Amino acid sequence: MKFNPEKCAVPDLRMEPFIDPAEIWSHLNGALPDRSRVREIIAKSLSKERLTLSETAVLINAGPDLVEEIKEGARELKKKVYGNRIVLFAPLYIGNKCSNNCTYCGFRVTNTSAKRKTLSDEEIIDEVEALEDNGQKRLILVYGEHPEYNPDYIAHTVKLVYSVKKGRGEIRRVNINAAPLDIDGFRIVGRSGIGTFQIFQETYDPEAYKLYHLGGRKKDYAWRLTALDRAQEAGIDDVGIGALFGLYDWRFEVMGLVRHTNHLEACYNVGPHTISFPRIKDASALNMNGRYQVNDEDFKKLIAILRLAVPYTGLILTARETPDVRSETMAFGVSQIDGGTKIELGGYSASRNEEQNLNREQFRISDERSLAEVIDELIDNDYMPSFCTACYRLGRTGEHFMEFSVPGFIKRYCTPNAVLTLAEYIVDYASPELAEKGWRAIEKNMTALDENLRESVRNKIDRIRNGERDLYY
Ligand code: SAM
Ligand code: SF4
Repeated sequence: MKFNPEKCAVPDLRMEPFIDPAEIWSHLNGALPDRSRVREIIAKSLSKERLTLSETAVLINAGPDLVEEIKEGARELKKKVYGNRIVLFAPLYIGNKCSNNCTYCGFRVTNTSAKRKTLSDEEIIDEVEALEDNGQKRLILVYGEHPEYNPDYIAHTVKLVYSVKKGRGEIRRVNINAAPLDIDGFRIVGRSGIGTFQIFQETYDPEAYKLYHLGGRKKDYAWRLTALDRAQEAGIDDVGIGALFGLYDWRFEVMGLVRHTNHLEACYNVGPHTISFPRIKDASALNMNGRYQVNDEDFKKLIAILRLAVPYTGLILTARETPDVRSETMAFGVSQIDGGTKIELGGYSASRNEEQNLNREQFRISDERSLAEVIDELIDNDYMPSFCTACYRLGRTGEHFMEFSVPGFIKRYCTPNAVLTLAEYIVDYASPELAEKGWRAIEKNMTALDENLRESVRNKIDRIRNGERDLYY
């Protein structure tokens, strides 16, 4: 990755806090959302250009009469950039010990009703085997912030997860959601072979941040804000940002996410790989007043705006949300979802071990469907479920990920890889009914491919039916 001194002018210095609330509010207070301006901005986004802060502010301020147009633009853009693929993953909670005191989280140190646990190596293996038995290929490992979860330990768990192979199952991409590290720490974790390192700023407003983060290292707003700069400095060029919606004004947080994206692009030539926008969910001993709670309507609008603002950044929506909200927002924004999610520690293998894990959840989820049910619904709605991990394994990450913008990239790589990973899933894990549906979806998607490529994909599908695995472009 190259340092870009020209683009990285003041105030975008590497590893320096870059959020200026007054600047964000001046954009929000100054943006006039007239119809023609909104249309111009949507058109700019449809030409696959990232939006500026002031353009994003115009969309944010657009009234109810313009929201449909914004969603329609986002729908079109999403089809152009992502096609009909939805990438699937599952979270794996490794440990809920935590020294911080985030008022919204069930893991916070002052929540004495939480049962603390770190999975042992054997338990991690059990969990990964259960996940592989369900057909998962991509995981995100989640940790509290605690001295036990140091970089060496995180790297150890990553390698352990990759080493577990059950039947034809294997985990091909391990992402991380953990506390900010120093540069050496990121280096250690990076070398273990992770995909994305995710860190959510929670709220981009420094004053609001103080109100919710009452203790521990996480109190330090700037340390967290600059975390992914340190990751980049340590050679991790695949990073994920996020805000926890419900802590502060949602309009400010959307601007914060776009500002964070600009900062990373200015300093490292590559924006975040993904953006997450969880809404606060009920948690054990939750201590929130609900003032900034985001209703469904605003939530859907902000997802459409994010889609338009950052055309090439993956948008993740987790099982914190209901199946209905997930299904609707996939049409105009969301490109990655989790399926078959369990967030209580040891939850995936619990039914086998008959262990109950009450009070070990971080919060409550709203989509408890199995991976098979999620895939079934995706296919019904004409989406192509994908477990593809090809880009990251072929080094198409970071700056190179921008190759994604090359015309034809989706047809050349993404659709074939989605087809191949779905074919594997069907052969190894699907019920006869789901398999039938799945093969029909594969046939339908193959028609979009050029003839030569179609032949090549058919050939690979035959090899999969004959027992080969992990074929990709
Ligand atoms: N401990 C690390 C940290 O705080 O960055 C990583 C793990 S934390 C368990 C992952 C994310 O969960 C947090 O960044 C926060 O955005 C989200 N979260 C915490 N409490 C939540 C709640 N009650 N509802 C929804 N999401 C929540
Ligand atoms: Fe700990 Fe992260 Fe929960 Fe805060 S959000 S209490 S740091 S696990």
